[in-house]
Amino acid sequence: MCGIVAYLGGKAVQPILVEGLKRLEYRGYDSAGVALLGGKAIRIQKTSGRISTLEKILDEPKTEETLGIGHTRWATHGQPNTTNAHPHLDYTGKIAVVHNGIIENYGTLKKWLQNEGAEFASETDTEVIANLIGYFYANGDDGKERKRTDGQNKFEWAVQRGLGELHGTYGLAIVCSDFPDMLIGAKKGSPLILGVGDNEYILASDAAAIVEHTTQAVYLADNEMVTISSKGFHTKTIDNITVSKDLKQIEFSLEQIELGGFQHHMLKEIFEQPKSLSTCMGGRIDRQNNRIKLGGIDSYLRELTRTKRLIITACGTAWHASLVGEFLFEQLARIPTETEYASEFRYRNPIIEDGTVVISISQSGETADTLAAVEQAKERGANVLGIVNVVGSSIARATDAGVYLHVGPEIGVASTKAFTAQVAVLTMLAIELGRRKHISDSEASRYIEELSMIPDKVSRILGQSDSIREIASANIDKNNWLFLGRGFNYPVALEGALKLKEISYIHAEGLPAAEMKHGPIALIVDGMPAVFIATTGPQYDKIVGNIEEVRARGGKTIVLATEGDENITKHADHLITIPDVPELLQPMLTVVPLQLLAYHAAVLRGHDVDKPRNLAKSVTVE
Ligand code: GLU
Repeated sequence: MCGIVAYLGGKAVQPILVEGLKRLEYRGYDSAGVALLGGKAIRIQKTSGRISTLEKILDEPKTEETLGIGHTRWATHGQPNTTNAHPHLDYTGKIAVVHNGIIENYGTLKKWLQNEGAEFASETDTEVIANLIGYFYANGDDGKERKRTDGQNKFEWAVQRGLGELHGTYGLAIVCSDFPDMLIGAKKGSPLILGVGDNEYILASDAAAIVEHTTQAVYLADNEMVTISSKGFHTKTIDNITVSKDLKQIEFSLEQIELGGFQHHMLKEIFEQPKSLSTCMGGRIDRQNNRIKLGGIDSYLRELTRTKRLIITACGTAWHASLVGEFLFEQLARIPTETEYASEFRYRNPIIEDGTVVISISQSGETADTLAAVEQAKERGANVLGIVNVVGSSIARATDAGVYLHVGPEIGVASTKAFTAQVAVLTMLAIELGRRKHISDSEASRYIEELSMIPDKVSRILGQSDSIREIASANIDKNNWLFLGRGFNYPVALEGALKLKEISYIHAEGLPAAEMKHGPIALIVDGMPAVFIATTGPQYDKIVGNIEEVRARGGKTIVLATEGDENITKHADHLITIPDVPELLQPMLTVVPLQLLAYHAAVLRGHDVDKPRNLAKSVTVE
């Protein structure tokens, strides 16, 4: 979590950092700060609260300050107060650091540094990094690991020496008051990108803070660092071995990360889904030859058709997409599939037999638990495929092969367009594997044709946004909701409940509808909203039965039903219609009204939809 932005160039740095932090704010927003250098003094301004609060306490920008680092925090160690906000200055006052990640051995290092006379002001793990670097900078080469080579800059060496002591993860931007023309970045387990402009450099956690300045970038890998000055930059490993890196083109534009007339990123992204699904599937659906082509994993398809078992690992919304994937792989390709929470899988001593393929799904490609699950699966000999959105992200690099979502940046903290695209990729893969293994060409052809019509059908659902707002409004005072679905729509029920919880802070439970009578039905009281996904499918009659069970106990039913289903009206207090598609393609449609329901409920309750309480976009810490 958290966003880092740093700048070295010819312009006044403060407004550039503030602008960059705003673009990164979705990554964390409990406190923020900047450290600025103009000449040999570091000036830190920081506060608890959001970037808008930081802006209020900032002094006027100074044109001579052209180097600086900034941070928007999502606290892991220590309260989100001003003292714990980044940047952190070391005890000598010379080194300032912003950090994304967690230092696991910070307790031991802190004790050691305190014994050596270093003072600490905050409760953060990050301050240990500042003090370690400051300590080695002040005391020089101790003859131990990472000796300073002839002529090596003392600041760069102290960073390497300090980082050598750390266990854990970091994306770092570091400055030293003795070097007013030098910025150092380092990465292990948290993302860090260097934007290379015209005599200016922007170092940031993600490209959103860079594209305004340049589209040329260097993506640092783990255990790499970059030393930047006005004369240029060089990249090395933390162990001081030079590495040469190519400049890459950042693939998205400023427009894609701006609101474009929508009130929130989440709403914009919900409405982008017809387009994002077309982009995700276009070029991959070959209607003429009745094939699906997933370029990134072409060479693994044969292996996939032979696999004895699939494991899909993910967290949060991506886990719900994975569950849809499990049902699809089993139904269409008859491959035994399990969906695992990455956070559990990584610690569970999982059984990976010969022939097991692991698929890992993460929008950001940086989800710490999912990345660890990838490493775990690889160590045990599995082939690991990734389904991620962010090109070049850690999971994209760590997996053997993969498929990109290609939906453009997702800024809204509550994932929407990434979910539908994850399901689209899983559906395409399952259809192609099914065609090779289990289902007839004509069945595959029917699904492929139906898939190509999904984006238009999503547009039809979006047309109901106003009436969905009315449904949210009619139930806005209710603090407990149920979301119920069966079959392919059971994971969608889970996702609908999660969306409502995330942004409107209303308690909601998602369940397979038949499970209700095994306990949760006890919750139903007069007027309690229960959202049912009752679209056509083999279990339609069963779910209508479940609806009646809720109504008999006074529950209010909000029913998603297939267009033209007249029978359902008598069972529904509120009705939302879904264009007709085969059951296994429904999740891409049925989730859309639930996203809108959560969105409108959150707005009606007055919450900041794009910055929900306690959450941040990509969970790059454990
Ligand atoms: N662990 C650090 C802290 O709690 C950094 C957290 C972050 O990535 O924002 O301050």
